[in-house]
Amino acid sequence: MGVVKNPWEPVQTVSNTQTARPRQELAMHTKDGDFGVLTTQVHKLLDWGRSSSLWPALFGLACCAIEMMATSADRFDIARFGAEVYRASPRQSDLLIVAGRCSVKMAPILRQIYDQMPEPKWVISMGACASCGGVFNNYAIVQGVDKILPVDVFIPGCPPTPDMLLYGFNELQRKIRAGIPNPPDPLKDSGLQLIGPIGEEL
Ligand code: SF4
Repeated sequence: MGVVKNPWEPVQTVSNTQTARPRQELAMHTKDGDFGVLTTQVHKLLDWGRSSSLWPALFGLACCAIEMMATSADRFDIARFGAEVYRASPRQSDLLIVAGRCSVKMAPILRQIYDQMPEPKWVISMGACASCGGVFNNYAIVQGVDKILPVDVFIPGCPPTPDMLLYGFNELQRKIRAGIPNPPDPLKDSGLQLIGPIGEEL
C-alpha cells in the first residue's frame, strides 16, 4: 500500500496578502509527563482570594436595603461571587454596603460600624440617597456618605436593581484584583470627628 494522503491537508500555505514569507507552522505541544512550572505573585493570590470571599455587614438603612436582600436571594444569587455570608458583627465583615439614605443622626453609628471592621475593608455606596442625598436635599440627610466614609464604588439609581448592585460588586472585585487601594478617608484627612448620639466622641 502506498502512503495515504491526508485529505484535509491545506491546499494553500501562503495567504493571499502574505507574499514575502510562507506561513510558519506552529509546533504542537506533546504530553511528556513533565509537571512544568506555575509562577504567580503572592499578593495576586491574596487579592484574588479576598475578592472572591467578601463578607458584607448585615446592615441596611432604607428602601435600597430591600434590593440588597433580593440580591442575596435565589433569583440573583450573590453567592455566585462568594459574598452571601452577611455577618451580623462588623468585626467579621470586610464589606460595608451603605444601602439607603443616611440621616445626620445615623452618621456616627455608620462610621462606628466602619471603624469596627478589620482591615482590609471596602465600602459600596448603594443608591442615589447614599451617594448624594438623592431626593432628600435637606438638612436631615447626609448629602453623600463619602463625606464620612472612603467609598470604593458608587451605584446610581433609585432604587438600584439587584443587577446594578451585582455590577457594582463585580467592579469592586475587579478593583481589589487590580490592587487599587481604598480612596482617602475623608475624616482622617480633615481631622474632623463625629460625635455620637449621646454626645461621646467616636
Ligand atoms: S435611592 Fe431610592 S430606594 Fe434607595 S434609599 Fe433612596 S429613596 Fe429609597
